[in-house]
Amino acid sequence: MSVMITDACINCDACASECPVSAILSDSDEKNPFEGERFYVKPETCVECVGHADSPRCADACPTEGSIVWDMPYTDEFNDYYVAGHEKGTYKIREHKTKGMMFPAVKSMEFMAEIGMDARKSHANVAGSF
Ligand code: SF4
Ligand code: SF4
Repeated sequence: MSVMITDACINCDACASECPVSAILSDSDEKNPFEGERFYVKPETCVECVGHADSPRCADACPTEGSIVWDMPYTDEFNDYYVAGHEKGTYKIREHKTKGMMFPAVKSMEFMAEIGMDARKSHANVAGSF
């Protein structure tokens, strides 16, 4: 991770098709922990568009203010953060048949190094960062 979708989301479906790695689930997807409420970014899949675009394509496509915000990098350093979030229901991390739960300690993901930890911790709006 990652970016995160908040409860400001209006389920307009502008973002999912823009994601180069299919990390966004719609509000009607049963794998979405917020099914029936809002869209959801899978942190174990999102690469913050590194290698694909200069800024997150989902946020560029989103018509709202504050629906797509920064979250912590999906790296070993933040493994406990994502495990706790999964247990709390903020995330629904995928379980791999042989590797088990795909937490950051098992597989870390790319992230935009230029985005500071303050912006991530405060879940700052992605659209205002560039
Ligand atoms: S930041 Fe990029 S990779 Fe991550 S969910 Fe948005 S479009 Fe997909
Ligand atoms: S583009 Fe924004 S408002 Fe529309 S579904 Fe995605 S996050 Fe929600």
